[in-house]
Amino acid sequence: MKKEKKIPDQTQRQPGKETKMKPQPEIIRKGYKGSEKLKNKVALITGGDSGIGRSVAVHFAREGANIAIVYLEEDKDAKKTSEMVKAEGSDCIIIAGDLRDAVFCEKVVEQCISKFGKLNVVVNNAAMQFAQDSLLQINDPQLHQTFETNIYSYFRITRAALKYLNEGDCIINTSSVTAYRGSDHLIDYASTKGAIVSFTRSLSKNLAAKKIRVNGVAPGPIWTPLIPATLDNVSDFGRDTPLGRPGQPSEVAPAYVYLACEDSSYVTGQFIHVNGGEIIGG
Ligand code: NAD
Ligand code: MG
Repeated sequence: MKKEKKIPDQTQRQPGKETKMKPQPEIIRKGYKGSEKLKNKVALITGGDSGIGRSVAVHFAREGANIAIVYLEEDKDAKKTSEMVKAEGSDCIIIAGDLRDAVFCEKVVEQCISKFGKLNVVVNNAAMQFAQDSLLQINDPQLHQTFETNIYSYFRITRAALKYLNEGDCIINTSSVTAYRGSDHLIDYASTKGAIVSFTRSLSKNLAAKKIRVNGVAPGPIWTPLIPATLDNVSDFGRDTPLGRPGQPSEVAPAYVYLACEDSSYVTGQFIHVNGGEIIGG
């Protein structure tokens, strides 16, 4: 297979900024045609300012949904996402703040409801990761930061959203390939991503009687701000996958569209593995 061009060296601090990335990620394929799969729906997307979350926001908007996005502090990225959503003919609110704060999680949902009057699709997607060579280097502050951001916020946002969700609505959680194959340098991060898989499966059973579906996406290496912000060397990123390259957000977001819309009405408790060909299972 032809090898892809290497990504130029670059580093950022977390949270990474999409505006600073070279090359710029592809957010939506030029030829992607919407077909009103999410017409009149409202979606809340954490980490929706950039990367996978931004791409999901733009795809959902092209499918007819109004969008609320939550992000930590990347105002420029969030404004651009909002502009892209509005260019699709949808409405968008952007909410900045720290999802490690339980009260903020409640406020986010209330802001979405006061703007749009309802909520149909919750996408839990915000995360941080801090690579360490050894378990001994994962101190308690890091442990708290990773778990509070990556899994507690999923519980809290979903808990706050639950009273507004009805039959036909759904929850989509972003996990990672690291949940399934482990990661020697991201032990705490991979642990939260494993917890997200169990959270998704358990909640899907709990909410099945209410006909609220709960699924997830487990991405492999995707070119987003998280990558230059957390990896020392990005030039070979994704080249060890069977497809030999990193994925673009535009190649992940359609999986969220499928899980959010009626096409997946008989699917709950499942993960879609968008990872360049790594076979998960057994
Ligand atoms: P990203 O940096 O674009 O998105 C992560 C977002 O999380 C940020 O935009 C940030 O605003 C938000 N965030 C982080 N901490 C927060 C906090 N305390 N409060 C509020 N918001 C906070 O990167 P991405 O790669 O698009 O990440 C999206 C999801 O995809 C994450 O769950 C990540 O674990 C997952 N993922 C990414 C990859 C990859 O290779 N990029 C692979 C597997 C899984
Ligand atoms: Mg961001």
